[in-house]
Amino acid sequence: MRMTQTFVPVLKENPSEAQIVSHQLMLRAGLVRQTAAGIYAWLPLGFRVLQKIENIVRAEQDRAGAAELLMPTVQAADLWRKSGRYDAYGPEMLRLQDRHGRDMLYGPTNEEMLTDLFLSSATSYRDLPKMFYHIQWKFRDERRPRFGVMRGREFLMKDAYSFDLDEDGMRVSYNKQFQAYLRTFAALGLKAVPVRAPSGPIGGDLSHEFHVLADTGESAIFYDAALEDISIDDPDAVAKLSATYAMEEEEHEKVMDCPVPQERLLKRRGIEVGHIFAFGTKYTQSMGFTVQGRDGTQVHPLMGSYGVGVSRLMGAVIEACHDESGIVWPEQIAPYRVGIINLRQGDAGCDSLCDTIYERLTNAGVEVLYDDRDERGGAKFAGMDLIGLPWQLIVGPKGVSAGTVEVKNRRTGERTDLSLEDALEKVA
Ligand code: ATP
Ligand code: MG
Ligand code: MG
Ligand code: MG
Repeated sequence: MRMTQTFVPVLKENPSEAQIVSHQLMLRAGLVRQTAAGIYAWLPLGFRVLQKIENIVRAEQDRAGAAELLMPTVQAADLWRKSGRYDAYGPEMLRLQDRHGRDMLYGPTNEEMLTDLFLSSATSYRDLPKMFYHIQWKFRDERRPRFGVMRGREFLMKDAYSFDLDEDGMRVSYNKQFQAYLRTFAALGLKAVPVRAPSGPIGGDLSHEFHVLADTGESAIFYDAALEDISIDDPDAVAKLSATYAMEEEEHEKVMDCPVPQERLLKRRGIEVGHIFAFGTKYTQSMGFTVQGRDGTQVHPLMGSYGVGVSRLMGAVIEACHDESGIVWPEQIAPYRVGIINLRQGDAGCDSLCDTIYERLTNAGVEVLYDDRDERGGAKFAGMDLIGLPWQLIVGPKGVSAGTVEVKNRRTGERTDLSLEDALEKVA
């Protein structure tokens, strides 16, 4: 992609409304723009990153055996009246009416809808176990939308739902999602701590939140330092992690005898990027769904639901991956892998070398952003650092006469002059 063809409105100054670094950088690097309180448009660069995060989340859901589908954003209130949550949900629910005066809502989550979709056709134990997911926009009318996409009102969530015949089955599904979450956050280059969570209004008793550690996180968590030594590649990782002490402050304070010795108890701030629940028959009972069990009796299937904040994750990644010059994207979700900086736009030699690099990388399947704007070198350097692509190829008149290209690694800052062939090889 050529910079002149896309839209990357970088800002030199920190916007005054942004309090935390990820929000500042997302606005400054032209990833998103707020269109109403807590509602964001995803500009070309931000949208590419969002899709990459989504694909990592998707790959791990597929691997866990969940079937992807897509449910609508607008739901009928009657569905929520069945579960009793229409009144219980409160002011976070965006309620609307259609032209016939029917009550509708913009979905904050989809338990009711998926339960109804699946269980109105599942009839027997042979239809279970089953796990589904979708990646869809949600709306929650947050009292205080803030920190950009971290706490938006409209946000992208992956939500999965499991259906099992019995308690053991439900635990198996829960653990599959637990494992998928560990893999997802690791694949994004993040360290996420699973924290034992109270299950709250959703009911039931098995629940974990996944927190990315960051000083700007909204939650305070207490956990056993031993947790940091558990590798997610350990085949018993889920069991070991669930057995290791980790609680949010509010819950921790209720614990009378904390089993962790003081010197091993860590207190950190965290960003909640995922949350898994096993809540049993809560919805199947309230909505009146059963299937025929193995012994011929009718049983209420047991369910779990599993959320990942896909758009919030972008903020969390930036909190973890930036320096004083801007974002430093992990390669797997960078909007482009390579940025080309043409220091003398309009100079025949520079333009032609840049075009060659652009074509060769593009043909080799490497994602490239070519800064072909008629701008000063300084502005191009600063902009490219801010955007944070893993590699920069810098082309100027000196290099053109010497037959070299300067290659810069964004993360290490290392710069080297290489021949065209070596430069292309280095970044491919
Ligand atoms: P929070 O405690 O931050 O309000 P939550 O506990 O209400 O989140 P869940 O119902 O557990 O959220 O939803 C699953 C996931 O969706 C959360 O773990 C989080 O990553 C994401 N999420 C929830 N609310 C928002 C929001 N307002 N903006 C962006 N992501 C959100
Ligand atoms: Mg909330
Ligand atoms: Mg929460
Ligand atoms: Mg939660």
